[in-house]
Amino acid sequence: MPDIAFANGVFLPLAEATVSVEDRGYQFGDGVYELLRVYGGVPLRPLDHLARLERSARALGIALPFDTARWTSVHTYSVTLVPTVVITVRALTPPAESLYTDGTDIVTVPDLRWSRCDIKSLNLLANVLAKQQARNAGAFEAVFVRDGFVLEGATSNVMAVHRGSLVTPPEGPLLLSGVTRHLTLQLAREAGISIAERPLTEAELYTAAEVLLTGTTIEILPVGRINGRCIGEGFPGPITKELMARFRKLRA
Ligand code: PLP
Repeated sequence: MPDIAFANGVFLPLAEATVSVEDRGYQFGDGVYELLRVYGGVPLRPLDHLARLERSARALGIALPFDTARWTSVHTYSVTLVPTVVITVRALTPPAESLYTDGTDIVTVPDLRWSRCDIKSLNLLANVLAKQQARNAGAFEAVFVRDGFVLEGATSNVMAVHRGSLVTPPEGPLLLSGVTRHLTLQLAREAGISIAERPLTEAELYTAAEVLLTGTTIEILPVGRINGRCIGEGFPGPITKELMARFRKLRA
């Protein structure tokens, strides 16, 4: 599959796509973005991603140049665009299968971000640093902790299983409303698994029967170790396994 870009109304090879050095997104991080995954040519939950793009743009006062119909059927445009619009399409290298069978390593990090993490903006410096800290520790993901409460990963949402219930921090300004988070909760409801969207402490992560991450590129990923401490018994745990199976059916 060729790497494709759509930059301000024009399709071109990704390597030829450019953005002006004067672009505010480049200079100030004044921009928003989305990332969605395509299975066999069919995007998963495109309208949820577009709705979040609109919410993020509205929060920053950016007028999106396309309405939903146009975003979903990108052709050629004659309109004069004000915000820089870039879409890229690339083949995904999914995480190694062993992460799904053995459970992944995560580390906890203090949350250095601002108080509008629900906006999917280009300001990802704290996320980048946290992810690097995870990599340096040989872990896959860093999970942000603020005042003792777990919020989300640098590029994922976090869930834990406590007394048979799937617990995840509630949506709000301190975390991104993940499309995969939403989908996973929906799958859990369909499976009759009880759900608690409530604050989750760091201490509760260590005593959880199962911990999992959700995200567009990772789907549902079981966590095996947090800061080197083992979680639960064996991977993936029964609830994670059930959710992973349901997710795989959904995209088949
Ligand atoms: N939280 C953060 C900070 C993210 O950057 C992401 C995705 O990149 C997610 C959560 C997961 O969101 P989604 O499931 O929509 O990919």
